[in-house]
Amino acid sequence: MPDFPAGEVWLAGAGPGDPRLLTVLALHAIGQADDIVYDALVDRRVLDLRRDGAELISAGKRGGRPSSQQGDINDVLIERARAGRRVLRLKGGDPFVFGRGWDEASALTEAGIRFRIIPGLTAGLAGAALAGIPATSRDTNHAVVLAAGHRAEDGGSAADWAALAKLGQPIVLYMPMSQLAEITASLQLGGLSSDTPAALIQSAATDQERVVDSTLGNLVDDAARHGIGSPSIVVIGATAGLRRHLLGSMVRWR
Ligand code: SAH
Repeated sequence: MPDFPAGEVWLAGAGPGDPRLLTVLALHAIGQADDIVYDALVDRRVLDLRRDGAELISAGKRGGRPSSQQGDINDVLIERARAGRRVLRLKGGDPFVFGRGWDEASALTEAGIRFRIIPGLTAGLAGAALAGIPATSRDTNHAVVLAAGHRAEDGGSAADWAALAKLGQPIVLYMPMSQLAEITASLQLGGLSSDTPAALIQSAATDQERVVDSTLGNLVDDAARHGIGSPSIVVIGATAGLRRHLLGSMVRWR
């Protein structure tokens, strides 16, 4: 394992929840860091793996974070690194998937701070896999779309849903809940059938994990009926319908 030098920032993904889904390198970093600047989505059990005396610094609330606060997080990373601390920036999932990891890496670059990127298992792929939904299968798709349900800055819708509907490839939605009605309507207007299989996965890889099978046309009602909240991903497309073939033999993760 590489040494974690004083004055460096390691920008690591913590995976979707369960610490067993950490990479070996992320686990090593958690055990070495002086300061751990973590997001709300990082599982408590992951933080509990830190060394004695490590300082935990919360990087603010989940979702809808104004960009000024992103500047504050960058400043904390830079100040702590300049003070000679070994700084671990720990994010849910993968740091470069809808996690502002690139913003932080570029701020560190501008400040002349050395950093390392440690990828993590992203919730949209690992969470789906744990539910028995493959990212691809030979029979169903040769591409998969990862899409943000809303823009972090203003909560508005982010993607060209009609164009994504025409691709005919499964769509994995991150941050889906606030715009779910608009997105599902736009996908249907774009030509996706209301019968298209879909699945809601809340709190993947945690003790609160829930999976609800649905269809594009029923997603909004099913989410409400089952009280699905954040954090959740939604898979829309043929892959979402495959998991029922596996349920007889697939051993539950927990
Ligand atoms: N960098 C993260 C994504 C951050 S955006 C990653 O790669 O996974 C935040 C969104 O990620 C949440 O709104 C939700 O859509 C998704 N997410 C993160 N952890 C999750 C989990 N354990 N279960 C379900 N969705 C999760």
